[in-house]
This record gives sequence, structure tokens and C-alpha cells, in this order.
Amino acid sequence: MGAEIIDGKQTAAEIRASLKQQIEAFDGEDMPVLSVVRVGDDDAGRVYVRNKKKAAEEVGIGCEILEFAGSIGENALLESVAELNDNPHINGIIVQQPLPKQINPQKILEAISPDKDVDGFGALNIGKTALKESGAVLAATPKGIIRLLDKYCGDLRGKHAVIIGRSNIVGRPLALLLLNRDCTVTVCHSKTQDLPKISRTADILIAACGCPKMVQKDWIKPGAAVIDVGINRDENGKLCGDVDFDTVKENAGFITPVPGGVGPMTVAMLLENTWEAYKKQQTGQTSSCCCGHHHCHCGHH
Ligand code: NDP
Repeated sequence: MGAEIIDGKQTAAEIRASLKQQIEAFDGEDMPVLSVVRVGDDDAGRVYVRNKKKAAEEVGIGCEILEFAGSIGENALLESVAELNDNPHINGIIVQQPLPKQINPQKILEAISPDKDVDGFGALNIGKTALKESGAVLAATPKGIIRLLDKYCGDLRGKHAVIIGRSNIVGRPLALLLLNRDCTVTVCHSKTQDLPKISRTADILIAACGCPKMVQKDWIKPGAAVIDVGINRDENGKLCGDVDFDTVKENAGFITPVPGGVGPMTVAMLLENTWEAYKKQQTGQTSSCCCGHHHCHCGHH
């Protein structure tokens, strides 16, 4: 028996439709606005930004793209981020990766106000997630994966989740979210020994390593949920994930396709985070400073 296909495209469309309704019904002073910062000539980055803008505008979120030459210095980029932080009409800020070599990406991410950090990549939001504190902006890709698991795979408690990849934007925050949902979590990476053996113990296997079709059929416990985060090109230049979909689907219970799985959910969660940031900002429930306190104690202004 083949696996049930986890339809991320359809699920994301439902989330966007619900967001659209909520945004239309909300009696706010002005519309929510997302600002997307893009640097240099990366073609893939340009496509991702265009898709995010289109999706935002369809649900009623304004999207302003700020483009900079690849030669921009770190300080100039930091100044632009500071201006966006101070602009009351901007509710969410994301900086499209990758950034040119002269710019330290984490430094730019840390400069985004935690309330406007709708990618959820900043240290404060990741830290709050780690501590299971309320009010954290959850990283978009991991948040989207949890939504899919909730919809298709039932109760997550006690399940063994194996994540292949430990990046700051996928593997690491996803491990925290799954732990918060009472999974038993194993995080694998390029130094892990006997990945197939560990993968076979997974009730939920998440591949986020950027290795085309690496995960094979005999790595899968029969009936397991397989989530493929990878976006790669195969030997023929065709889009593919980190999972060998055609064979793995014979063993898995549930599986995400690429495209049409995790990708559209990431964009939907980015929009949801922007909408939530807007509502908090409209109702004054923001942390006024990088210290995260409503009444600031850290002395930074
Ligand atoms: P990174 O390159 O930042 O991280 C890759 C991780 O995988 C690292 O932790 C690395 O280990 C590990 N890894 C690499 N090779 C192997 C291997 N052979 N065996 C085991 N572990 C390995 O990638 P990202 O997390 O940014 O992205 C991963 C993939 O997901 C990419 O294909 C990317 O395009 C895609 N992606 C998709 C998104 C979506 O919305 N669908 C969003 C973000 C990313 P180590 O730490 O030891 O180097």
C-alpha cells in the first residue's frame, strides 16, 4: 500500500483563505505590511521574494521589497533595518538569504526588532521557543511542518522524530518545536554515524539536509510520516527533495511531495506571522525593546 500524500499546497491555500477573511474583517487603521530586504543578484532569491509578495498581496498584506546592490556594506544594511524597525507602517521584516560574503547574516537578523522578526530567526524568538515561553514568533518552515503533522498524523506525543539537518532556520528550531509537542527528538547531521539505522527508528522522519534524493526506501519504518524539506535539482535539472519520493512512498504512511509540500506552508506561515505581528502592534502588545520586556529594563534605546 502506498503512502497518503500530505498536500501542503492545498493546506497552505486553506490557511491563506482564512487569513484573507480575518484581514478583511479586522477593523484596523491601515493594512498589515511586510518588508522584504533583498541583496545582490541571486536568481533563486529573486523568485522566492516575488512569490512571497504575490502571496502577501493576495491575502491583503502589503509587501514592500527593498533591493540593494551586492556591494552594500554591513553598516549600510544595518541602518536600513533600523529604519524599518522605526517605521510604524511596517509590521514584519525579513531579509532574504543568502547575503554576500562581506555581511554577517546573523548580525543582520539580530538587528531586526523581535516584534517584526516574522521569520522567527532572531535569538530572542528562538530562545523563547527553546524555553517554551509564550509570545515567541515561531520560525516559518518548522511551524508549517508542525501544522502538516497535526493535520495528517494525529497525536504527536511520544513519537520518535528524527530530523536530518541542524541549521538555524530548519533543523534546530524544528527540534525545539517537536520537543515542545512531547516528541522524542533525535537530530542528525553530517557527522552522524549510520544515518539509515537511526532513520529506521523514526515514527516521523524529517529530511532537511539539501542532499538530492538521499533518503532511501530502506531507511523508512513502515507507516512512518516522511517530511521532505529539501529543495534541490536532480541530475536532469528537475526540482527534487532530499527524499527519493518514488520509492520511499511505498514504505511510508504519509509523505510530502516536492514541490507542493513544505514550501507553500513556509510562505503561508510567514504571512500568518506577519498578520499576528500586525495585530499585536495594533493593540500595543509588543515588547518595546530587544530585552523582550513590555517595560524595558535593558537600557538599549
Ligand atoms: P543548510 O545547508 O544550512 O544545513 C544542512 C544541514 O544538513 C546541516 O546541518 C548539515 O550538517 C546537514 N547535512 C548535510 N549533508 C548531510 C548528510 N549527507 N548527512 C546528514 N546530514 C547532512 O541547509 P538548510 O537547513 O538551509 O536547508 C536544507 C534544505 O532545505 C535545502 O535543500 C534548502 O533548499 C531547503 N529549504 C527549504 C525550505 C522550504 O520552505 N521548503 C526552507 C528552507 C530550506 P552539518 O551541520 O554537520 O553541516
